[in-house]
Amino acid sequence: MLKLRNSLSQNLRLKKNPKMSLRIGLIAVLVGCFSISTWAASEATLTTRAPLTQDSDKVIPLSELCVKALSKFSGKFDDKVLAQACSKVEVLPGCESVNGTPIYHYDKKGQSKKSPKVLVFSLIHGDETAAGSVGRFWMERLETISPRNSWRVVPILNPDGLLKKTRTNSNMVDLNRNFPTKDWDEKAKLYWQKDSKSNPRRFPGNLSASEPETQCAMKHIEDFKPDFIVSIHTPLKVLDFDGPKLKPPKFDYLPWRSLGHYPGSLGRYMWFERKIPVLTMELKEDLPSSNQPWLQLQDIIGVLVGIENMSDKEKAQVKKK
Ligand SMILES: [Zn+2]
Repeated sequence: MLKLRNSLSQNLRLKKNPKMSLRIGLIAVLVGCFSISTWAASEATLTTRAPLTQDSDKVIPLSELCVKALSKFSGKFDDKVLAQACSKVEVLPGCESVNGTPIYHYDKKGQSKKSPKVLVFSLIHGDETAAGSVGRFWMERLETISPRNSWRVVPILNPDGLLKKTRTNSNMVDLNRNFPTKDWDEKAKLYWQKDSKSNPRRFPGNLSASEPETQCAMKHIEDFKPDFIVSIHTPLKVLDFDGPKLKPPKFDYLPWRSLGHYPGSLGRYMWFERKIPVLTMELKEDLPSSNQPWLQLQDIIGVLVGIENMSDKEKAQVKKK
């Protein structure tokens, strides 16, 4: 595992985007000019301070940006709890979209130092806004409980796509086909041309991990070292688990069904190449009237992560049940 993580970090270094460095440089110049300290000024630290947003010269505090964006998703939420959760969001160095919007995340530590870690990516596809409602609900709920597992929620991985209401990012790349799987160079474009008939919604990019949003997701994997990943989508109405073969816990709201995985997809990158299980939630476009299914699902994930951390002998026993 250590070896794999090292190679991931090398990969990240190799793929460092010169355009992004230039952007960070430009931000640094702006910072110098206006004597404002910004989140991007240092590559070494995390910060919750005010980022520069792409649509104006105004400096908007990250917490405000978070409340503003997450409040727009449909469904119920608690203003106070959301504001409290958003006051804690942070940005990993370099985690910004093509258009320069920060990609922030929320962390909640588990009960012990050894707590397994769950990483949630919501809105990899910008036009799947129901995913944002679930990411928001989990941030809120985590704010009010002391969870067994440590959780990191990235509620909007593709902010440009969200703004433009597109599946892809601003470079028209499907981020869930852009992860640098081993077969990417050989198969990603061929697969796109043949199997998805060059559907522009599924364009994998010209190079693997070419997109800043994909690079940000990889930075989270490198930084947080998750034991389990949840990726939230719409509209296929299923739960798809790429992980060890287990009898899935009962969940009435969505059936369990395997959807397969593709060159450049997160499931192939993390489970098939790194043995970190990935639960893909494919929601219905219409959200349920209450958040109860998401509460139940969060608990189910807790159980799955527990199973994942069992010994092989224990796993075999669960399988028999
Ligand atoms: Zn999707």
